Parts: sequence; C-alpha cells; structure tokens
Amino acid sequence: MDMYKTLNNGVKMPILGLGVYKSGEDTKQAVLDALEAGYRHIDTAALYKNEAQVGEAIRESGIPREEIFITTKLWNDDMKNGTQMEAFERSLKNLGTDYVDLYLLHWPVSQALEQSWKILEQIYKEGRVRAIGVSNCHMSHLMRVMAAATVVPAVNQVECHPYLSQKPLRTFCNNLSIAMEAWSPLGRGRVLNDPVIGQLAQKYNKTPAQIILRWELQENWIVIPKSVHRERIIENSSIFDFELDSADMAQMDGLNKDMRFGTDPDHFENKQ
Ligand code: NAD
Repeated sequence: MDMYKTLNNGVKMPILGLGVYKSGEDTKQAVLDALEAGYRHIDTAALYKNEAQVGEAIRESGIPREEIFITTKLWNDDMKNGTQMEAFERSLKNLGTDYVDLYLLHWPVSQALEQSWKILEQIYKEGRVRAIGVSNCHMSHLMRVMAAATVVPAVNQVECHPYLSQKPLRTFCNNLSIAMEAWSPLGRGRVLNDPVIGQLAQKYNKTPAQIILRWELQENWIVIPKSVHRERIIENSSIFDFELDSADMAQMDGLNKDMRFGTDPDHFENKQ
C-alpha cells in the first residue's frame, strides 16, 4: 500500500497522520515520538491551541519542513467574525512556518460558508497553502461550497470509525475527487472492545486499534489517530505489514450503526 494519497491537485498527502486534539502539554513530545516512528503528517487546528508546540517539535526533529505534512484549520469564530485572513496569519505564526500543507474550514458555518471558502481559495492561489479543504461537511454543505467554488476541495475530514462508516458521503466525495479523511478513526477509543474487532485482532495477531486503522486505509480513508503515548503512537503506525481479506473487510463493514460520538454537522452551531 502506498503511504501517500495523491490529492485532486497532485499534492501527495501521507495517509497516516497524528491527531493532536486535546493533546495539551503532551503535544510536543507526542509529535516528536510520532516523527521518530515515521509519521510525516500532523493534524492540528487553531482550536486545539497547540500549533506552536507542533511547530516546535517539527523544528526540533531536524526533519526538513518539506518532508512533513501539516494540516491546520480555520476556527468557526473567525468565519463568523470575518477574520479569516488574520486567523490564517496567526496559525502560520504559531506554527512558525511560512506555508501550510492543508488548510481546512473546521465546520461548515452556515452564514459564512461560501465567503470563507473564497478566502481559502485566495490563500491557495497566493501559494501559501498547498491544498485547501473542508471538514464536517455533509453532502448539502459540499453542494453549497461547490456552487461557489473555483477550486474543488481536496479533502473532506469527517468523523469515521467502524460504527460510522459514512459510505454514502464517501461515494459522493469520491465522485467529486474529494479525498476522505477520518477523524476519531478509533471512535475515541470507544470501539476497541467490540468483539468482532477482537476476534480479527486475534486472527491477524494485531491489536484492535491496528485492525480498525487498517480497515479504514483499505477503505481509502486518510487516518489521523490521536495518542500521546509513545507505545500507542508506534502501535498505530504498524499497519502497513498486513492486509484484511475481503470477508473480514465485509465483517468490519457490517459493524456500521450510523452512530456518532461527535457532533452532527447539522447541529454543531447550537453547541458551540
Ligand atoms: P481517536 O479516534 O483518534 O481516539 C483517540 C483515543 O483513542 C485516545 O485518546 C486514546 O484514548 C485511544 N487510543 C489511541 N490509540 C490507542 C491504542 N493504540 N490503543 C488503545 N487506545 C488507543 O479520537 P480523536 O482524538 O477524537 O480523533 C483523532 C484526531 O482527529 C484528533 O486528534 C484531531 O486531530 C482530529 N479531529 C478532528 C475533528 C474535526 O472536527 N475536524 C474532530 C475531532 C477530531
């Protein structure tokens, strides 16, 4: 399996990244551990308040900046307040870099969706991001973005795990050549005790987390599991040396319950 996915603009994105939501004070060490374990992709956001630690770890690792893929995200308040550009500048400053690899609209803020997308397009056309995309977009949100867009989003980052396989949305995005990226790919740790996954873990001599991540990769998702524990960071990256057969892929597919652990994109504005 290729470790990179080619996005719709030709940019190569590592299909495994480290998520750092709520990694707090442990962020810097987690990123250093991940880079040492071979990760070349970090998923942060202005909201996570750890862009500076991500940047510090990358510089300290000694790995050339261009070998590492950084995703960050524009927060909802900056869309609502019309401060998208200032927010982007702030993210660059916090990261200590002069470009971002992938910049995402964190949520489809209804009153500012098209306007925010146009600003991302502007930043993209200025060459300050290598790719732009969206997050938490249902088909209805994507249709709005597409109607206004001159640049097709490269990525849609959405909740996906064995209990929420997102097949209809994935098919829709595939048809538009929008790559799918799974947040909470381990269901925040809440799907690891599923008995079917446990049986597959035994069969393949792998851990439940590895079975889940491998299923997602074989389903063509980009995955960004989060951990601040070195051994788990390594474990979550050891997923390129085995393959689930088609019967076992079907078993994994059968676990879907359309169950969200996070917020539904149709209702997030009531919650934030
Ligand atoms: P996740 O599914 O990656 O689960 C992380 C949790 O699973 C950990 O806190 C730990 O408890 C457990 N875990 C991780 N590895 C394990 C292992 N090997 N064995 C046992 N337990 C393990 O959840 P997440 O952090 O919600 O999602 C991953 C990343 O996705 C985030 O860090 C963030 O970067 C991104 N994200 C994006 C959005 C968005 O709105 N775009 C929302 C949520 C998360």
